Amino acid sequence: MVALSPILKQATPVIAARGEGALLWDEDDRRYLDFTAGIGVTSTGHSHPRIVAAAQEQIAKIIHAQYTTVMHRPLLDLTERLGEVLPQGLDRVFFANSGSEAVEAALRLARQATGRPNVVVFHGGFHGRTVAAASLTTSGTKFRSGFAPLMAGVTVTPFPDPSHYGWSQEETTEFALRQLDYTLQTLTSPEDTAAFLVEPVLGEGGYVPATTEFLAGLRERAERHGILLILDEVQTGWGRTGRFWAHEHFDATADILITAKGIASGFPLSAIAASEELMSKAWPGSQGGTYGANAVACAAALATLEVIRDEHLVENADQRGKQLRAALEEVAGQHDAIAGVRGLGLMLGTEFRDADGKPDGAAATRVQQAAAENGLLLLTCGAWGQVVRMIPALVVTEEQVDEAAQVWSQTVAAAL
Ligand code: PMP
Repeated sequence: MVALSPILKQATPVIAARGEGALLWDEDDRRYLDFTAGIGVTSTGHSHPRIVAAAQEQIAKIIHAQYTTVMHRPLLDLTERLGEVLPQGLDRVFFANSGSEAVEAALRLARQATGRPNVVVFHGGFHGRTVAAASLTTSGTKFRSGFAPLMAGVTVTPFPDPSHYGWSQEETTEFALRQLDYTLQTLTSPEDTAAFLVEPVLGEGGYVPATTEFLAGLRERAERHGILLILDEVQTGWGRTGRFWAHEHFDATADILITAKGIASGFPLSAIAASEELMSKAWPGSQGGTYGANAVACAAALATLEVIRDEHLVENADQRGKQLRAALEEVAGQHDAIAGVRGLGLMLGTEFRDADGKPDGAAATRVQQAAAENGLLLLTCGAWGQVVRMIPALVVTEEQVDEAAQVWSQTVAAAL
């Protein structure tokens, strides 16, 4: 009998049969509050009727109109409509299928455009699982081990993570910028450095928001040295943090913006956006792919844009995020084992620590698994797996957040 490879590690034993909004049912018709949303993908909720209709309509017309062979209408319309949400000046887009591919596309563009080989990444960042993207990933050795050598030309420097360093946000930001300068002086000279690659909120690395001063510091150094600033908004984009892009919280700007996950409500699609000037430095034909910008995925992305706008989902992410955060903070205040709550909008994490103040991945996993047994699907993140994260669909209702908060409170009390 053929079985699944043990390469995969399952977070829960659930076999999903159907979903609706922020809810999911298993094959025995057991209902779950899905606060994982396919790792932050199904922002419009499971099988939103308008996404289903758009995909069904497109599927009956043409499924695969390969984009380096022929163009298709959903691709052209989506490209144009992205103008409504992309930051000003980032008016050239390239589509791929996954976050990792988009990260690789950004890397290639940065190297071609600058003629420089190196990339600086920030400790705790996650940028994907292909070998190049894994080389840029420093959120856990599990993403890097056993298949070395990884890609050369990557230098790691600290991300301002106050809970890791145990300092204030200001001190940690200052330290991270000082270390970046040290890195540019000792490890990769600016003349060799194509780009800084950073997440505005560390995702897999533990749901740690950057700071305005940190991103301003990156921008200042990028300008000074002709280095490109690449923002990886694969997990944070499309309304997840209560703004359409997380970097809006920090008044930051990107030279290359990477997006995926929430873009097409579950269909595989990703993109990078940059200025015409920068994109024109790419070598034509050096990027592409068989499946990029699939017609059904593009139709779903167009419908996703409309649903986010018509249902005010960015505002809902902000409001429900505040509601959820208040509930999580109340629970955090009742338990010494919880070090704190962090994140932005509907991207929230609760960090567990042991009696010695060390990151406690075992406690986080215990709580995450008990929550699943209690009908609340969650994931962990952080280098030690010490953070339990909540990333429900942006359509999540006030009542569902209340219900999740209640399950969370009871689960934490029983599992710790
Ligand atoms: N970048 C970030 C910030 C991510 O969170 C992820 C996925 N968790 C990726 C890149 C990789 O995306 P994918 O799994 O679609 O390749």
